[in-house]
Amino acid sequence: APIVEVRPTYAYVDAGAMVHNLRTVQAAVGPRCRVLAVVKADGYGHGAIEAARTFVDAGAWGCAVSLVEEGVELRQAEIRAPVLVLGGVHPGSEDVIVHRSLTPVVWAREHLQLLSAAVRRSGAPPLPIHLKIDTGMSRLGALPGQLPEFLDWLEGEDGQHVRLEGVMTHFACADEPDDVTSPRQLESFRDSLAALASRGFHPPIRHVCNSAGLVRLPHAHFDMVRPGVAIYGAASSREVELPGLKMAMSVHSRILGIRELPAGARVSYGHRMELTRPSRLGIVPVGYADGYPRRMSGQAQVLVRGHRCRVVGNITMDVSMIDVTDLPDAREGERVTLLGAQGRDRIDAYELARWADVIPYEILCGISKRVPRRG
Ligand code: PLP
Repeated sequence: APIVEVRPTYAYVDAGAMVHNLRTVQAAVGPRCRVLAVVKADGYGHGAIEAARTFVDAGAWGCAVSLVEEGVELRQAEIRAPVLVLGGVHPGSEDVIVHRSLTPVVWAREHLQLLSAAVRRSGAPPLPIHLKIDTGMSRLGALPGQLPEFLDWLEGEDGQHVRLEGVMTHFACADEPDDVTSPRQLESFRDSLAALASRGFHPPIRHVCNSAGLVRLPHAHFDMVRPGVAIYGAASSREVELPGLKMAMSVHSRILGIRELPAGARVSYGHRMELTRPSRLGIVPVGYADGYPRRMSGQAQVLVRGHRCRVVGNITMDVSMIDVTDLPDAREGERVTLLGAQGRDRIDAYELARWADVIPYEILCGISKRVPRRG
């Protein structure tokens, strides 16, 4: 922790909202379906350790991360629930995976070879693994045609010391308005399950759905769902948001000083913005190095005293200027909300994403390490 926290910019992470969201997901999928809380990328920017603890305490079966390093971080924080590593088994990571009891997602012969050797070296019991099938995302996973060969390896020398606990796939288009892809992916997944069964493999945890999938494809919940963005209170767009979620993160700062400027004055780098009236600008210590994207310049708004104020001129690395001319009482030290609610208004991740021409995920993950998280 820093010795002093002078700069007033911080992110508030509402654990109560995360508990509420996890329970909302659990209610949507029913009590028999497990929930795997996705906490990769530092818990979508909310802080992985706090997020993982909160979700596991709220009833999640386990957590998912992308990297072995992220899994180790959770184990070091004494999180003992299953931790799936989505990103595969990289040479050199296999001993850590076994030592830390992480659950790797696998799809290649090399993964099995590395893991089996590591388990043998350690003398540990067979390591649970989850097989990923690429049914159309064209990213990670075994293609359905590669399945028979993979099962040969699993039955043979390479698959000694591992245990097929789960099988999964990932939707490419579950959040698209006219999604015709997910049903095809599901059909392919069911074919793969049949192929596994015909060889005597019945992995007990079958899982497919991300946040959008669990909302839109209720018949695809299987034994577990893998929500990420939903448990932080958002979605790709409002259209695929699970009703009743609460946004867990808000970002706030304070006005550092007020600058009174005449009409015609030009503001910030490049002088692209010219004031059209005598103006009062609030100087706010937040910039693109905090994850407040520069490309929102000219579009972004913030909340001061519950009112919307425009961000004027280019957002800089550390500082942004806001127009508080219409709030004559606004003073130095005034609270500024960049993401979240203030008074009766709120700026959510969808709105910021629209201004920045990105997706809400990118806004949440992008709030940088320099912004302290407070609970
Ligand atoms: N499952 C996998 C394999 C993922 O890669 C992700 C995130 O991208 C998720 C689940 C969670 O997705 P979402 O945040 O859309 O719920």
